[in-house]
Amino acid sequence: MPTVQLDTPIEFVKGVGPQRADFLRAELGIHTAGDLIEHVPFRYEDRSRFVQVAEIQSDAAAIQLQGVITKVAEVPSKRGKRIVAQFQDATGALELVWFKGGRWIVAQLPVNQQVVVFGKPARFGGKWNIAHPEVERLDTFQTRKGLGLQPVYSTTEKLTNRGLSSAGIARLIRTVLGQNQFEIPETLPPHLLAELQMPSRDAAFRTVHSPPDAPTADKARNRLKFEELLYLQLLLVRKKQVATVGQPGVRFTAVGERFNAFYSDHLPFELTGAQKRVMREIRADTNTGWHMNRLLQGDVGSGKTVVSLLTALLAIDNGFQACVMAPTEILATQHYLGFKELLAQMDVRVELLTGSVKTADRKPILEGLASGEVHILVGTHALIEPGVKFKALGLAVIDEQHRFGVQQRAKLWAKGKPPPHVLVMTATPIPRTLAMTAYGDLDVSVIDELPPGRKPIRTVHRTDAARLRVQQFIADEIALGRQVYVVYPLIEESATLDHKDLMDGYESLSRRFPVPDYRLSIVHGRMRPEDKELEMRRFAEGQAQILVATTVIEVGVNVPNASVMVIESAERFGLAQLHQLRGRVGRGAEQSYCILMTKDELSKDAALRMETMCRTNDGFEIAEVDLQLRGPGDLMGTQQSGVPDLKMADLMRDREVLTAARYIASRVLEEDPGLEQPQHAILNRELKRVAAGRPDWSRIS
Ligand code: ADP
Ligand code: MG
Repeated sequence: MPTVQLDTPIEFVKGVGPQRADFLRAELGIHTAGDLIEHVPFRYEDRSRFVQVAEIQSDAAAIQLQGVITKVAEVPSKRGKRIVAQFQDATGALELVWFKGGRWIVAQLPVNQQVVVFGKPARFGGKWNIAHPEVERLDTFQTRKGLGLQPVYSTTEKLTNRGLSSAGIARLIRTVLGQNQFEIPETLPPHLLAELQMPSRDAAFRTVHSPPDAPTADKARNRLKFEELLYLQLLLVRKKQVATVGQPGVRFTAVGERFNAFYSDHLPFELTGAQKRVMREIRADTNTGWHMNRLLQGDVGSGKTVVSLLTALLAIDNGFQACVMAPTEILATQHYLGFKELLAQMDVRVELLTGSVKTADRKPILEGLASGEVHILVGTHALIEPGVKFKALGLAVIDEQHRFGVQQRAKLWAKGKPPPHVLVMTATPIPRTLAMTAYGDLDVSVIDELPPGRKPIRTVHRTDAARLRVQQFIADEIALGRQVYVVYPLIEESATLDHKDLMDGYESLSRRFPVPDYRLSIVHGRMRPEDKELEMRRFAEGQAQILVATTVIEVGVNVPNASVMVIESAERFGLAQLHQLRGRVGRGAEQSYCILMTKDELSKDAALRMETMCRTNDGFEIAEVDLQLRGPGDLMGTQQSGVPDLKMADLMRDREVLTAARYIASRVLEEDPGLEQPQHAILNRELKRVAAGRPDWSRIS
């Protein structure tokens, strides 16, 4: 048989063939010999120890036996056939049992030969047996070197039934790696390997599939993780270079009259240190002549809005317009009203454009945009419609970015020529490691300081038993002049039931808090936008003391007088959402509270979420726990997030490797932006290969 190379189709690997190849492709996505080699073990078993049948005491852990299979039989049973093999060593006998995979197993079991058996023992009818053990001839077992750690590969039932259990996969991999003169090509430059003291790619894969001990396995694995992350970071760092240096942007050279007038006369508070720092970063960025693509992260209530307003004034002072896009109508309206109020004394025209602005009212707005008389346009998706044309758009602010798709951002980008500077604001704190990857091509600013005088929100977890006391607490707070949110989950899959819960909750609150002493507002997705507006406004203006709502209030709404957030069925919310919701209170000077109502019995994850919420107010800490619970893909919502599919590395666990990869990628591209130097030839070649296989997801994330 000719030597198998990495790109050899999997069916030509000895021991595979067309039928198993179909299953390897369908079940594990293994198309080539290279894919097989990249199917690395997910754990190892220590196979250096043997026990004897007479010594078996517990069914707690898998054990390894050595002996002979004396007999194999197919035994009919109610639920199909079982395979039962008699196994024997010097001290006793037990049965090996298979419930599935008949023909393959019978054909493969070596009878009357010395075998090694590995599996988890179970006690049945006073005797020990092992279900679905791994069985291997002693001589093949002994030819494997090391015999320290045995790799365990992920596989599926279908593959197992065709002889490709973990051990079967191990056999295939050994076949490929064991060929004469077979070598896996190198993908990293020798000088980097030497600098980082990493093994060659070939050595790394061989070690990972058959390590002498755990530390050596880790080292080999880190080399492979590093490689994966390095190419990802090279891609991102290079995109960032292209997106900034080399992408002409509008230039805000001057800090002008409006900015200064607002800053000194109309800003109702002193900026926090973090806000000032971010403003300096933005000013520097927008004055380079290159394009700004900046992500502004700041916990709920950290004061991102005023940063966007100041940046807008900077744009206006330099003869440009600005737009602010928000994900919901309520939030857009709130921004609009907030801007109007802050800019009341100033000669700045702000307009609001949402889906519910009527055609007749649209006309003057659109005309004002085209003539340049409208300075700031606030709105929803309506902003990106083709009919919306600016005279000179210099800044696009996107609030709560994770709600917007990449395509929508691209449309916004196309509304200026050259494209406007982009400031993306998010209140979902993203752990640094993730930001480095998901937003590796954006510059990141962080507001890591809350405005002074805020009291940390007190969070408690309560169940139904405490409902009356919770209601009393609400009544007490209202008596002090405060307002209260009561939020219900609304999940699409259970929308009807959820809606009923909300309505029932509203009813019972209405009975406990009756008019005329109390007023309740209610907001949910089935209401007309005008009605929602009205209800929201009654609450925002203090006419209603309690707002009962679904998650529509999740993003952005600002009612500083609200001091209590009650979250019903809190176990059904994710951590990021809970934190967002809690951020709706604690905005004024009063002590604020968050009450998480759940049922009695909670899953382990839900309990950890509640515990985390009660323990900390720190959005970054919460995001870390969230990342652990959900994994990066989920955390970011959709694929659009740009969190790549990683084969080897794990963004949560492999931070050190990620940081090293980021550092090396930046260093290399700084020295040699085009990767043209001879020692980088290999990086250049591989990067092209990696880039070709990847969608262009990071252009404007
Ligand atoms: P977020 O970052 O969640 O969007 P906002 O911009 O809505 O936060 O700000 C929350 C509240 O804090 C607003 O009422 C805002 O006026 C106020 N605020 C912002 N910056 C400061 C500051 N430096 N000092 C005092 N209050 C501030
Ligand atoms: Mg906000």
